Amino acid sequence: MNDLLPEKSRVWRNLEKKIATVFSNYGFDEIRTPILERTELFLRGLGEVTDIVEKEMYSFEDRLNGKTYSLRPENTAAVVRASVQHSLTYNEPRKLWYYGPMFRHERPQAGRYRQFFQFGVEMLGYDSFESEVELILMCNAVWRSIGLDGNLQPELKLNSIGTSEERSSYVQALGEFFQKHIGILDDDNLKRLKRNPLRILDSKSDSLVNLKNEAPKITDFLGNVSKAHFENLLSVLDDHRISYEVDLKLVRGLDYYNSTVFEWKVSGLGAQDTVCGGGRYDALVALLGGAHTGACGFAIGMERLVELFEANSREQEKTLIDLYFAHTGRDGKLIAIKLAEKVRKAGISVKVDLTDASLKTQVKRAFRNNAEFLAIFGEEEIKTGNVSVRWLIREEGENHQRKVPYAEMVEFVRKIKNKSGNGSQ
Ligand code: ATP
Ligand code: MG
Repeated sequence: MNDLLPEKSRVWRNLEKKIATVFSNYGFDEIRTPILERTELFLRGLGEVTDIVEKEMYSFEDRLNGKTYSLRPENTAAVVRASVQHSLTYNEPRKLWYYGPMFRHERPQAGRYRQFFQFGVEMLGYDSFESEVELILMCNAVWRSIGLDGNLQPELKLNSIGTSEERSSYVQALGEFFQKHIGILDDDNLKRLKRNPLRILDSKSDSLVNLKNEAPKITDFLGNVSKAHFENLLSVLDDHRISYEVDLKLVRGLDYYNSTVFEWKVSGLGAQDTVCGGGRYDALVALLGGAHTGACGFAIGMERLVELFEANSREQEKTLIDLYFAHTGRDGKLIAIKLAEKVRKAGISVKVDLTDASLKTQVKRAFRNNAEFLAIFGEEEIKTGNVSVRWLIREEGENHQRKVPYAEMVEFVRKIKNKSGNGSQ
């Protein structure tokens, strides 16, 4: 689990704002659900033979009521629970997004943490392939919004895993196939063979790459409706000039998926190269007690996205605050606090140095804090009702140091900022 120190948090906050903006641009509404849910929600929702349920959940028994709770390992099940509980799709289908921490007891490594953050989207009450089109367009818009376009753009992999009937004949064929190669399977995959051979395709073990390539393909088991759904989706993606690769081994790690599944992968992140996963889950709402409701969604892993963003960011470092107030003498600090209140009301950010450090130290801090202006409240200034303001990021040759009357402070800062066009957030 990670601490996000201020420098990192700044990057995160920047991306969070952009991603949330994309989602609202598509008309999606935010939903916030609790971090704790009853454990049985995930047992039922995700499937008992999944990595998450078998070994990755943080669960505990509440001694006060004997019930078992889990820190949410993902949020689709919880959003569906909330939707059923509050009849969210009673009047019309819903387009929802969420953001927050998820918890999985995995082996920590680069790109894989025990607390990690996901941005996710769920479309509840949507049956047709156009909803997957919209999901994919949204992902694309997210990459674009944070500058991951051109050759930095993640690559889209897609597959269809059909209806549950189609999948069960496929799973049977897979079982028979892997049974013949039982010698190559490790313990984990032997267990998967017994309980759900489809999961073998999802295994990350390198020794199985060839075997997985030879395994039966889902395409041979899809009926006409599933095939048409997938083909329609692909043809609209072509229309939008979205490049993708159909990956017949892509099955995703959770039982609730059917029909379309997809992932976005990137190079340069090492083994943990998936930044986003999603698909259709038409049976989940009914499984969790609602009426049959077509649904689909995706989740983006923030840690991996931030890493990718930082490795490629072309964004210039901006100033972080407009003004830094330093002071000397007895009354400087209080006058600075008073004037800062006025200036902030005009939407200008001010950090007041509240220490009694030397002026030299305070000036250093102003630079270290990436302030655009430094204002000094010294005894001389206080006497004359002026403040000495210095532009810290001035262009070469220019000298922006002025004595400014208190009453003209806001005007002065505004003017120079407008001229330079360098507004900080
Ligand atoms: P992976 O195949 O990498 O284990 P997954 O299929 O378990 O991923 P999902 O449950 O689909 O992942 O979650 C969606 C996204 O959340 C992933 O693509 C990834 O970016 C991110 N993610 C999942 N698990 C972790 C983790 N332990 N640490 C950081 N990010 C994660
Ligand atoms: Mg995983």
